[in-house]
Amino acid sequence: MAIATETQPQQHKDSSEVSGSAAEQRRWTLNDFDIGKPLGRGKFGHVYLAREKTSNHIVALKVLFKSQLQQSQVVHQLRREVEIQSHLRHPHILRLYGYFYDQKRVYLILEYAPKGELYKELQKCKYFSERRAATYVASLARALIYCHGKHVIHRDIKPENLLIGSQGELKIADFGWSVHTFNRRRTMCGTLDYLPPEMVESVEHDASVDIWSLGVLCYEFLYGVPPFEAKEHSDTYRRIIQVDLKFPPKPIVSSAAKDLISQMLVKDSSQRLPLHKLLEHPWIVQNAEPSGVYRS
Ligand code: AMP
Repeated sequence: MAIATETQPQQHKDSSEVSGSAAEQRRWTLNDFDIGKPLGRGKFGHVYLAREKTSNHIVALKVLFKSQLQQSQVVHQLRREVEIQSHLRHPHILRLYGYFYDQKRVYLILEYAPKGELYKELQKCKYFSERRAATYVASLARALIYCHGKHVIHRDIKPENLLIGSQGELKIADFGWSVHTFNRRRTMCGTLDYLPPEMVESVEHDASVDIWSLGVLCYEFLYGVPPFEAKEHSDTYRRIIQVDLKFPPKPIVSSAAKDLISQMLVKDSSQRLPLHKLLEHPWIVQNAEPSGVYRS
């Protein structure tokens, strides 16, 4: 697959999902879609609501400019993201149905998440109720168990990468830093606040990096700020390495939630609570909606 170098319109199409015919192997082009309202703007382009003309299927069409991708040297990263995300099928992972491109742009055909960004919801509420936080954490744990089973590590779990589906269910939307691996990795990636000690220190890491990030996320859901936040990067770095974890008195958070977070934010990656055990933790069992759907 050659995303940025070819000039002819190209495709990768899971036609069973969008156009209804599993056997069909035709190429996507912009003409296959009616373009609707803009849904948002990203670093490399825009996202539009769109309807595939044959099936009437509503999707989100992400339009990325090749020149910007090349300039920022993220072509390889995008290629990996597309390859990984297009093969994942899970209720809490945003579907990537296919892609195509022309001379100037790359188009990603994505599942539409009508309720938008989780990040904005968190900003609006400041912090979530334990029921809401536990429902989201359990959903993400299930999605990550699925990914890890396919040897995919996400490596960049944070509120900005999560969208909300039509039923209020969480969807992991961004696989830009994910990696398909059978080996231990050493790459430095992601946003500092969510990185575990072994990635900050650039030592080997494995799927347990996602347990750490989920612990950071759980804390942020309940307190409204990530646990190792500091004014200076160097202080965040130090706090992560020392696992300088503090639970402020406000907002009031149950000791069961704090216990779960403390079992995920453990420096020794082999000692972090495995995700299947997380699903059995009393805080999750007592608070998470079994359906994974949170309705306010
Ligand atoms: P991104 O380039 O992925 O950061 O997307 C930019 C913005 O478009 C996001 O912040 C969302 O508000 C919106 N957006 C992206 N993908 C979708 C989607 N699949 N469904 C709904 N909105 C989306």
